[in-house]
Amino acid sequence: MSAFSIVSIIDKKRRGYSHDSQEEIDWLIQGIMTNTVNDYQVSAWLMAVCINGLSDDETFWLTQALVNSGQTVNWPDTLCPVIDKHSTGGVGDKTTLVLIPLLAAAGVNIAKLSGRSLGHTGGTIDKFEAIPGFKTQLSMQAFIHQVKQHCMAIASATADLAPADGKLYALRDVTATVESIPLIAASVVSKKIAAGAHTIVLDIKYGSGAFMKDLQDAKKLAETCRMLGRRFKRPISTVISVMETPLGTAVGNSLEVIEAIELLKGRGQKDLLALCLKLGAVALVSSKKAKTPEIPETIDSATALLQEKIESGDALKAFGNLISAQGGNQKIIADYTLLPQANSQSHAYASQAGCVSGINALSIAQAANLLGVGRHTKEDAIDPSAGIVLTKQIGDFVFAGSIVAVLHHDQSRDAGLVQKAKGLVQRAFFYSDKAVNHPDLIEAVVLAD
Ligand code: URA
Repeated sequence: MSAFSIVSIIDKKRRGYSHDSQEEIDWLIQGIMTNTVNDYQVSAWLMAVCINGLSDDETFWLTQALVNSGQTVNWPDTLCPVIDKHSTGGVGDKTTLVLIPLLAAAGVNIAKLSGRSLGHTGGTIDKFEAIPGFKTQLSMQAFIHQVKQHCMAIASATADLAPADGKLYALRDVTATVESIPLIAASVVSKKIAAGAHTIVLDIKYGSGAFMKDLQDAKKLAETCRMLGRRFKRPISTVISVMETPLGTAVGNSLEVIEAIELLKGRGQKDLLALCLKLGAVALVSSKKAKTPEIPETIDSATALLQEKIESGDALKAFGNLISAQGGNQKIIADYTLLPQANSQSHAYASQAGCVSGINALSIAQAANLLGVGRHTKEDAIDPSAGIVLTKQIGDFVFAGSIVAVLHHDQSRDAGLVQKAKGLVQRAFFYSDKAVNHPDLIEAVVLAD
């Protein structure tokens, strides 16, 4: 007879008690993996967790059980430190496209397993795949080999790492149990621990375009992730950033590749550049704990080094090497027409005169999806050329009727959808009759201790 009963496990959490041991959580996760616990029972447990939470011990046990459900990557000591950076998801977030070559140019190894877009948030893998020929399906062996050779690699997350998280996530998605801080922390951190990086930087976003809607929850999530990092003895540093407005000016796969290249050419939009430099500097300084003498010790010196890597062209060169190493056409760096390009453009106009005071990230993401940028189910095809370029930013003055955004789409796209997208974009812009300062995106930075 089994040592545990699923009904008592659910009942205990429903009454707000704690699970007693790692064994109890291991048993549950094993049951999920072997299908000896039913989906409806797991769903009931997830709802009880959403309502009553998990203690730090329970969150750690759950994370450990998710890690143990699959393979783990062991990076050779010679590659230490390997950095992994993760964002909790946003709109127009192309920071990974910039950070991989930027950190490699600064002399550290960066190995990134990423996902595709789902729901309103974009996916880094879809962005890289907009580059003709770029391969993201790498075997674990090829992934490690590429980091050895080029100090950097990006691959689509494999089902072999933390597979129980995939199963749990699929259930959470359809049972309104995604928004639980311990469940999100266990899900994110288990995949990072399984992927084996020595230093982990998490960009935790909050606001209309993010999972966490308020700062207080974002802070709690950051704290929980750092607690897990300490327990796994893998330093996790966190940056909390605002996701009320799309990041940068472009939303859409091919358009975001161009924006990332422009940044690497030294022509980055201010907010995007500031966030990339901050995340990169945090990654570098956190790697210092891996005792690599040439890595800068302070955020300021690390920022200066990264800025120099952009100004010297080293980061752009590294981006070209990354594209070539993964089978892509690096000529796109000089000639953007080699990227997928939409054959039709429409304009969105300001509804009134004034100073742009807000641009709702969620509305822009929804509009971009109507143009074909993202997918509603995993099986949907996407249009890599589709997207939106914001031509006005917070703080810009406009006349009524000024162009505020350009919508890129296929000529054959349903005219009704394009019209709906245009309406969403126009209504996403808010105006004030007074001057509005451009808000700072970065709310808090906590380095791993
Ligand atoms: N991203 C993840 O990987 N897991 C979550 O639960 C939420 C965001």
